Amino acid sequence: MGKPTGFKEFARELPGKQSVEERLKHYNEFVEKYADEKLNQQAARCMDCGVPFCHHGCPLGNVIPEFNDAVYNQDWKEAYEILTSTNNFPEFTGRICPAPCETACVLGINQPPITIEEIEKHIIEIAFDKGFVKPKKPNLRSGKKVAVIGSGPAGLAAAAQLNYAGHQVTVFERDDAPGGLLRYGIPDFKLDKWVVDRRIKLLEEEGIVFRCLANVGVNININDVLREFNAIVLAGGSTTPRNLFVPGRELNGVHFAMDFLKQNNKRVAAKDLLANAAIESNILNEEVKATGKNVVVIGGGDTGSDCVGTSNRHGAASVTQFELMPKPAEERNDFMPWPSYPMLLKTTSSHEEGATRQWAVATKEFMGDSDGKLKALKIVDLEWKIVDGRPAQFVEVTGSEREIPCELALLAMGFVHPQHTGFINDLGIGLDERGNVKASEKDYRTNISKVFTAGDMRRGQSLVVWAISEGRECARAVDEFLSNAVTSLLEAKERSVLELER
Ligand SMILES: Cc1cc2nc3c(=O)[nH]c(=O)nc-3n(C[C@H](O)[C@H](O)[C@H](O)COP(=O)(O)OP(=O)(O)OC[C@H]3O[C@@H](n4cnc5c(N)ncnc54)[C@H](O)[C@@H]3O)c2cc1C
Ligand code: SF4
Repeated sequence: MGKPTGFKEFARELPGKQSVEERLKHYNEFVEKYADEKLNQQAARCMDCGVPFCHHGCPLGNVIPEFNDAVYNQDWKEAYEILTSTNNFPEFTGRICPAPCETACVLGINQPPITIEEIEKHIIEIAFDKGFVKPKKPNLRSGKKVAVIGSGPAGLAAAAQLNYAGHQVTVFERDDAPGGLLRYGIPDFKLDKWVVDRRIKLLEEEGIVFRCLANVGVNININDVLREFNAIVLAGGSTTPRNLFVPGRELNGVHFAMDFLKQNNKRVAAKDLLANAAIESNILNEEVKATGKNVVVIGGGDTGSDCVGTSNRHGAASVTQFELMPKPAEERNDFMPWPSYPMLLKTTSSHEEGATRQWAVATKEFMGDSDGKLKALKIVDLEWKIVDGRPAQFVEVTGSEREIPCELALLAMGFVHPQHTGFINDLGIGLDERGNVKASEKDYRTNISKVFTAGDMRRGQSLVVWAISEGRECARAVDEFLSNAVTSLLEAKERSVLELER
């Protein structure tokens, strides 16, 4: 424990941000760094609790009090080593994790918790600056080949761990560059893409081979992959968006959020928007911009918030975000006690930049003009019945139906399951009741021998930190499977030698 009285002396403080006016002029990250003294003070607030609940809060089991102590003592190498002993990519989680660890922090019982996520980001960025982060190549190669399908955080974590274990890993990615939603989905203002490129370069230097524009099931035959590799990890994400089947859905101006967000990531990267449309996912055959439009984002989660931030940067005339559920509580209540993850009202940096937020609202119709262009939404208020602290049922509020002007509607209502057409159907992979790839958390193995799965493809739409955790655990299962295969081969060879000798 760095400073026993730290939590009494220093208040929780987050680093500064660029002003809204400034940051709306660009797409880059805008959160500033802590000054050295501030970082030291924030780490000093950690109480090194006897039972550190933050470990439990973090899906990766990050050993938080230990790295806080190293930060307080400015032992950056030690802090880096502790952090990366459980987390392959702290530069991602340190920027975009919703930090369930912080809601489990013991200090959070009666004070604002430690700024764990920010400390994590500072440790890894300092480690890069000081040259501690170097490619880690395995000393020995096993002679086994593993294919990872999908290069999001789950696929990357699985690939990294399997490569360290000595297996030769090839990652297949249908987009033109690796990263999954880290590259094409999450806006640049939350996660600059040089951060993703920096990690991919390291992974390549460690020996991982990336094959982009390789859409397995489209221009790559899954049976060829099965033949060539000793094990396969399916990490294709949860990519089927939830649709809104109301009249007018076909109008020009109604789009899925992901089509809009991916296009913007490509625009920021100065890439041709339509190139590779036959191979990549989520490529719109038209350019969609929010400039000068009344934008309505339907869906109140992270994806919706990213559409708000992007629309404001485009220069939308107005941005409104609708959520079907009622407005969440602002503080914990009896139904969400510490240290559980509370469903509280979340105001993101994109909301700070300007948006009208409305809760308990349903869209009944998209209304168009004679050219088939969206011009308004018909909406209605909902009244929710709350049971045990949770919204259970709703009814429409009589007389609340109204129209609002809207030329761009973005559907951000989550994802139902992975895409089934392609390798899932081709291989006959078993699915669970929600349509995700079925595999136990114990061995991450599907119904097909030597085929494993991890990340959103297995657990459904989730978080980057969970994807990394799944990738790591799945890699452990694959390594065990391959090690047993090596052992059984050796055993078989020994048996045949013994038999020959007899
Ligand atoms: C807009 C948006 C914002 C988000 N913001 C946050 C956030 O701030 N914080 C957070 O923690 N989480 C956030 N999430 C959730 C998070 O991004 C996901 O949970 C996480 O990326 C899942 O990782 P994954 O590796 O399982 O899948 P993905 O990241 O979806 O990667 C899957 C990859 O597989 C590829 N693929 C699919 N099929 C094939 C195929 N047949 N052949 C080859 N490649 C294939 C895809 O192209 C993709 O690159 C957000 C999600 C969205 C959509
Ligand atoms: S990965 Fe997320 S949950 Fe884990 S310690 Fe970092 S911020 Fe907290």
